[in-house]
Amino acid sequence: MYERPGLVIFDCDGVLVDTEPVVQRVLAEWLTRHGWPMTPEESARTIKGSHIAEIQRLAEARVGRALPGFIEGYRAAMFEAFEAGIDEIPGAAVVLDALRDAGVPFCVASNGPRVKMAVSLKSAGLLDRFGGMDGGRIFSADDVGEPKPSPRLFLHAAERMGFEPGACLVVDDSTQGVLAAIAAGMGIVGYEDMTPAADLSAAGAPFVMKRVDELLGLIGFPPVRA
Ligand SMILES: [Mg+2]
Repeated sequence: MYERPGLVIFDCDGVLVDTEPVVQRVLAEWLTRHGWPMTPEESARTIKGSHIAEIQRLAEARVGRALPGFIEGYRAAMFEAFEAGIDEIPGAAVVLDALRDAGVPFCVASNGPRVKMAVSLKSAGLLDRFGGMDGGRIFSADDVGEPKPSPRLFLHAAERMGFEPGACLVVDDSTQGVLAAIAAGMGIVGYEDMTPAADLSAAGAPFVMKRVDELLGLIGFPPVRA
């Protein structure tokens, strides 16, 4: 279904680390506290994957006033919630190790800040697979100043890793990520975490996985687990 890619670009939250339930709970509580009542399910459907600055803009439009300290407070609440520990998405380590063993390079690119990726990847036991926080394989929308669905983050990651966009395959669980990959001229595999598969397909993902380790079969690897 997909050719073996030159580079695999993973989204972080919901694809490698199981942060989304925590993130959506914290986000929904934070928005509710600021006057925009929302459940985790509603936030997952409507604004998941959006950059926090965009979420602040939406919240301010919704409640009709400025919300100073919104981002800082949200990030503090999130890190507090992360302290309880973050699990890997089942199969993520297996996929990363199989790619490494086959000599297929990979990196991670997220709308979230680098420190959030580092904390969650470390908590899930995956940070070493990216060469640590300073291994040059962790890319944030903050690096380019333009979050997904802009293609700039993925294009930046590909360039830094030394690959043409057409050689890259993105794995993402948000419609923003699907749209960004398509705009970048890259392949895209959706992963159904909290966003329904139908939404990812509607955004343009040709295939949506139910398990992350399905990726290996999709790009021609032999199955590695039942
Ligand atoms: Mg995600």
